[in-house]
Amino acid sequence: MRKRVVILGSTGSIGLSALKVARDLPDRMEVVALAANRQVDVLLEQAREFKPAAIAVYDEDNFSKLKAGAPEGTACFSGPEGLKKLATWANADMVLVAIVGTAGLAPTLAAIEVGKDLAVASKEILVMAGEAVTTAAAKKNIKILPVDSEHNAIFQCLAGEPHRHIRRLILTASGGPFRRSTKEEIQKVTPEQALKHPTWKMGTKITIDSATLFNKGLEMIEARWLFGVPISQVDVVVHPQSIVHSLVEFVDGSQLAQLSHSDMCFPIQYAVTWPDRMPNSLHALDLAKQGSLTFEAPDPDRFPALRLAREAGERGGTLPAVLNAANEIAVPAFLNREISFPRIWGLVEEVMQKHELVAHPSLDVIIKADSWARETARKLLKK
Ligand code: MG
Repeated sequence: MRKRVVILGSTGSIGLSALKVARDLPDRMEVVALAANRQVDVLLEQAREFKPAAIAVYDEDNFSKLKAGAPEGTACFSGPEGLKKLATWANADMVLVAIVGTAGLAPTLAAIEVGKDLAVASKEILVMAGEAVTTAAAKKNIKILPVDSEHNAIFQCLAGEPHRHIRRLILTASGGPFRRSTKEEIQKVTPEQALKHPTWKMGTKITIDSATLFNKGLEMIEARWLFGVPISQVDVVVHPQSIVHSLVEFVDGSQLAQLSHSDMCFPIQYAVTWPDRMPNSLHALDLAKQGSLTFEAPDPDRFPALRLAREAGERGGTLPAVLNAANEIAVPAFLNREISFPRIWGLVEEVMQKHELVAHPSLDVIIKADSWARETARKLLKK
């Protein structure tokens, strides 16, 4: 079956990989709509190649440029309403949400409301509103297909397994560029050093999150919601080669893992073709050439992000949204050299401590907590 896919975030790193998959498997994936934040030139080039029915730009200031350059007959939209329009596009089977940050939340809920299948790459959606999103999806009998490589790996390992078989989900982490750095060295990390990821090529925000391990922390919370397990059953192991993308431990003590080269086309393709598997042009692993795969425990002393995420995941409610929002303020402040690298988690922890948690929050309450956390983080930055 050819899936008609809407890509929200088509000019970002996940979006570009998704289009590679569409190029590779034209019989299985049709691009029906594309949305970007503000890279209009790239978006227009994509529109000329894939001929989607609709395109949208989040940044409203770029709408006239989009409209002027769009191929004839292409519907053009802008702003949050534009994203919603695409997410509910009548002719689409699946919406791939790959927008950085929290802008993906509203279109995701809109897509669920009209019964579209979801492929979720934006972990913020599940971190902030995991309960609301998974409950809404269950009500509409919608499958949320994980695109994040770790969660996609777990999803593959769980194929055909009932929930009661799960003992533990084990997320792998590359450990980032400072895996071997001392606490003193970590104090002095510069943005340039933090932006050099050893194994994955990704966007700026997620690359910094991989260096602090906040990315893995967010993924623990994401896993908790995607697979319906308490966060106490979600563990992390550092695996610097990024070949084993995650594992599941079953109640009998067996563990299953998924392995491939670190290329996002693998998880994106699986999400699109699931439950099928399709031959493609991607290079399969040669383990003999790879030689060795190594694993080690993460160090909570040098990387407190995992502890903070576990706390947020355990206490739940609005706290994960607060952790995420404070981190979204801290990362650009670090990149602009306003704060040191360890101050990223220092700031997140302070904001979390100040927060008055609301349990089982509605979407409005979550969005309020998100704004509160951003505001509080900004105030702390000025101090
Ligand atoms: Mg990941």
